[in-house]
Amino acid sequence: TDELLLRSEKLNAVGQLAAGVAHEIRNPLTSLKGFTQMLHAMSKGKEKRYFEIMNAELDRIKMILSEMLVLAKPQSTHFRKSHIKLILHEVITLLSALANMRSVDIQTAFDDNEVAMVLCDENQLKQVFINIIKNAIEAMHSGGILRVHVKTQGNQLCIEFIDQGEGIPEDRIPKVGEPFYTTKEKGTGLGLMVSRKIITAHHGDMEISSKKGHGTTVRVILPVES
Ligand code: ADP
Ligand code: MG
Repeated sequence: TDELLLRSEKLNAVGQLAAGVAHEIRNPLTSLKGFTQMLHAMSKGKEKRYFEIMNAELDRIKMILSEMLVLAKPQSTHFRKSHIKLILHEVITLLSALANMRSVDIQTAFDDNEVAMVLCDENQLKQVFINIIKNAIEAMHSGGILRVHVKTQGNQLCIEFIDQGEGIPEDRIPKVGEPFYTTKEKGTGLGLMVSRKIITAHHGDMEISSKKGHGTTVRVILPVES
């Protein structure tokens, strides 16, 4: 227990430092982005392309910073009783264009005899579902089906995301969700870490099972609000 306490204290200190750094980098970054966009507008030909790349890379830094801020800072949360199915539907609608583009068909199966409510921060849960669904789409390189199942099991709600993507090799599964672990050229490796943090704050749990070449299932468990 002592070691665990020490470790979480260390993590806290590192987290605070990271949040400070992330915050400090934001302002100069905004100015860099502004001038890059200005130069982009003024340039032509090959140069225009270089400024586009600079702009895209600055966006990437911004994304990493905002994910780091979520991790390090206690977020102000607004817990409300919400319908999980509505939240899921909204997220799926939001991502349907991306799914279409990648030939991914999102199929939902909600057992509708239950009106499942959870006590949650809607925006944070949306962020979790977006992370998970985006990962699933990104894993299905030549399209496929993503199944989203919602089941109630006693006083728990189980949301499953079952994809037909490339899967994760067994020895890599423990790595998934570690900070900065990514296998993508443009990945941040922070999405699942942020997601896990949010789910833990909701007294829930997140599990990943996968088979290389067959697909991945991400299971989110949340307590039902009666
Ligand atoms: P990112 O998406 O930026 O790489 P994540 O934390 O969301 O960061 O995911 C970390 C890594 O976990 C991914 O790079 C990928 O290797 C693996 N992963 C996550 N979800 C899936 C999935 N559904 N199928 C296959 N691999 C996945
Ligand atoms: Mg991701």
